[in-house]
Amino acid sequence: MKKIVIIGGGVSGLTTLYYLKKMLGEKGISAGILLLEKSERLGGQIRTEYVDGYIIDGGSDCFIRDKPWALELCRELGIEDRLVNTRDENGGTFIYRKGKLHVLPEGLMTLVPAKFMSFVTTGLFTLIGKLRIGIEILIPRKKGNDDETLAGFVTRRCGRELLDMIAEPLIAGIHAGDPEKMSVKSTFPRFLQMEQDYGSLTMATLAARKKMKEMAKRPGYSSQPQRSFFISFKNGMYEFIERLVNSVQGEKIETGIEVFEISRRQGGGYRLLVNGGKEIEADAVVVTTPAYVSAVLLKNISPEMSESMKKIPYIKTGTISLAYKKQDIEKALPKAFGFLIPGVEKRSMMAATFTSMKWPGRCPEGTSLIRCFIGGKHNQELIGKSDAEIIQTVRDELKIILSIDAEPVLTRVFRWIDNMPQYNIGHTDLIKTIDREMDNNNRLYVTGSAYRGIGIPDCIHNAEITARKIVDGMST
Ligand SMILES: Cc1cc2nc3c(=O)[nH]c(=O)nc-3n(C[C@H](O)[C@H](O)[C@H](O)COP(=O)(O)OP(=O)(O)OC[C@H]3O[C@@H](n4cnc5c(N)ncnc54)[C@H](O)[C@@H]3O)c2cc1C
Repeated sequence: MKKIVIIGGGVSGLTTLYYLKKMLGEKGISAGILLLEKSERLGGQIRTEYVDGYIIDGGSDCFIRDKPWALELCRELGIEDRLVNTRDENGGTFIYRKGKLHVLPEGLMTLVPAKFMSFVTTGLFTLIGKLRIGIEILIPRKKGNDDETLAGFVTRRCGRELLDMIAEPLIAGIHAGDPEKMSVKSTFPRFLQMEQDYGSLTMATLAARKKMKEMAKRPGYSSQPQRSFFISFKNGMYEFIERLVNSVQGEKIETGIEVFEISRRQGGGYRLLVNGGKEIEADAVVVTTPAYVSAVLLKNISPEMSESMKKIPYIKTGTISLAYKKQDIEKALPKAFGFLIPGVEKRSMMAATFTSMKWPGRCPEGTSLIRCFIGGKHNQELIGKSDAEIIQTVRDELKIILSIDAEPVLTRVFRWIDNMPQYNIGHTDLIKTIDREMDNNNRLYVTGSAYRGIGIPDCIHNAEITARKIVDGMST
């Protein structure tokens, strides 16, 4: 019986295990699968703490509806009833600009405004900035296939103000990245597609809205459960990990096992060196660790692949959750999901989510929860400070921005040291080398957030593709 070892127990490793089990079963192939995770806890960047009735997500707090793979997996696992929508009655996001919170005009996730009035009346842009965004429709599509930075793309199509006020905090903020370095081809290929297919983002947005309206008219549409743009679980994102682990019962998952090195076995297959000086043999290996870890593990197997992995940079981020008595902050807390701070404001925080406004059931009656984000290109050093200093910094920021001066009743700091990969210019070339070397090394597979999409839906999608490749390879 063939043995497949998966390294890493984050969402990429666990979903690879899930799809492998499913696909091998469907094909009637028997194989032993073993998942090895360095830490005692599964989930990687998905981590939820349950304290005194609070549900506190330290890493991811949701997945998006529009990349369908996470939602599809939830349906497949029969756990759709455990999902929660955002509390859209409180919806809306602010952008902090020059000492004031401005409502983010609707629809700007596609960079161009969806509602004319909210765009015209916003104080976020100057008149010239608005006119520049307005003429996006007239800007010709780019010729050639060269990679472009996110900053280059947005400025070319919509002007500098849109980059500074919206694209940097909202779009680049997803990666905590620097838009002057990020590759638009690797991070937001959808924008390039919209430009190529429709000539402009404005035309593409109008076409998408028309399609949505037509879909909503289809018979049966309104009887389907309606999902918000952001989706989470009733018990926080860790519930997803627990349900995934339940679905692969019977398969071997070992925590507290760190892999140090992978080498080739004579006659085919691989040998893994793990803690305690032990060795584990495998016919196929799936590596889902962060790229800089995978680079070390694979240096003897493929120096070229290892070099490409080393070139994928990572950034430090952190989330700080603060709980308050509701009465202490009620007047100061606007009805919204939170606010974003453009880098040009040069503040110590990137954003804050008003967790209890955004999600139901996250804190006990009579309390409110706020989650602040630190890190990003301006604030890497803050992550290295003590919990007390970090908490004081975000409290100072909340005082300036929201006039919240009350004493929190609970605080939690989560540091994510080198967890957020950056897809900078040249990323597609690195991926080409990694893919070629995967093809050159029989039954060696690499997947995870470092390569083809950082969000949970992308990690799931790529895990499914990887599992399919492994099973196809075993069937031939
Ligand atoms: C603060 C924050 C907020 C985020 N918010 C969202 C969000 O709201 N929505 C969204 O879609 N995405 C979000 N993301 C991104 C998303 O959570 C991650 O991209 C995704 O969880 C990565 O999963 P992964 O399995 O690829 O990697 P990881 O979760 O990093 O898992 C890799 C695993 O490998 C293990 N490992 C490392 N080295 C070894 C070794 N030598 N041997 C064995 N095991 C090893 C690690 O311990 C870890 O468990 C967020 C990320 C962060 C940090």
